[in-house]
Formats: sequence, C-alpha cells, structure tokens
Amino acid sequence: MNRLILFDIDGTLLSGGPAKDAFHQGLLSVFGTAGPIEAWEFSGKTDPQIARELLREAGLEDPHIDEGFPRLWENYLRDLEALVPERPFRSLLGVTSLLEALEAEAWARLGLLTGNLEGGARVKLRSAEIRVPFAVGAFGSDREERNDLPPVAMSRASRIWGEPLPPEEVVIVGDTPRDVECGLAHGTRTVGVATGRFSADELARAGAHLVLDDLTDTAEVLRHLRDC
Ligand SMILES: [Mg+2]
Repeated sequence: MNRLILFDIDGTLLSGGPAKDAFHQGLLSVFGTAGPIEAWEFSGKTDPQIARELLREAGLEDPHIDEGFPRLWENYLRDLEALVPERPFRSLLGVTSLLEALEAEAWARLGLLTGNLEGGARVKLRSAEIRVPFAVGAFGSDREERNDLPPVAMSRASRIWGEPLPPEEVVIVGDTPRDVECGLAHGTRTVGVATGRFSADELARAGAHLVLDDLTDTAEVLRHLRDC
C-alpha cells in the first residue's frame, strides 16, 4: 500500500513568522490599500483568494487586481525573505519527528497542500528548519480555490510514481474546516489537527475522518495516518 500524506503548512506544521506583515506591505505597495486586513479571516484560504477578497472589499475591480498580482507576489516574497531572520517561523511540537518517521516508512509519501504561494511555502519551511523533502505539492500559486488543489497534488503524484492514486489512499492533514472540506470534495481521507484556530469539535463538525489535538505522539499519529 502506498499513501500520499498531504500537509497544510500554517497552523499544521508551523506557526508564527512575519507573513501577515509582508502581505500587508505588499498590498499597500502595489495597490495603495490592504482593505480590511486586520479584521479579515485568513484561515484555510489561499494567498490569491485572501488578496482578492481584501481588494474587492476596498472597491477594486478584478482586472485591476489581476494586473497587480505579479508585482504583489514579487514584493510579498521579497519582504517575507527579508523579515524572517528577525521573526522566524517555528515548527509545531512533534512535527519534525513525525515527518522524519514518515519519511522512513515505505508506505508513506509526503506532500504539501497549502494556500501559500509555492515560494512562500519554501521560505516558511526553511525558516522553521523543516528539512524533510516533500515529493509533491499543490499551492495557492496553482489555484485560487483550495477545493481545486487536491486534484493538482494527486495528478502530480501519479505522474511522478507512474500509477493512478486512488483518493482513499490520499490523506489531507490540516488545521481548518477548509482543509477538511477540500479533501471531502475529492474523496480523500481527512485529518484535522487542532493546533490552529479551530477546536477539535469544529474540525469534527466539518466532517474530518479523524481529529487530533496535536501531532506530538509520533507512533500514534503514524498509525492513524496509515489506517484512517
Ligand atoms: Mg492552516
């Protein structure tokens, strides 16, 4: 049996860091506004989705928004890189040992499924000193809707391994109801981890096949990821 385990990043593998400030600066520098960024809900959304929502709230039209996106991403990634040395991201408890243990399991293949731009994901993982390689990924830079990301990761995985990947052998691990929903939309297994802003109850109500308080018990989490 081969399983593809797709991890979300923020609130699941790591926390902290200056991403919101870099995002804010980027929006101001390119569009002159960051909309209602202080009050806005970011959890589980892709970077382009968040930017578009904020800019629409500020009254901007989509053609204007789309035109500014390339410069926004360039500025955001530059500012993120510049700010991380002072305010590094931190891996969450248990994450490093879990990823190392998974890497050693013959049945497990590791991937990312995240709303981050691919470049932002790399910066955050490097900053948090998460060095275990992820063979595939689907990112906010691939699709603006999180629900469109699982097929991207799955088709990349199938191409790499030269075999179709049944959705029931894909496990999406994330800290928000949106992580759970995107997996359910494509028939994958879903694991909610209550290390972000959502409680175990909220993740269970979203329909997660399994909910964990955190990823600290390596042996137990490993068993769940294999058997769920
Ligand atoms: Mg998250």
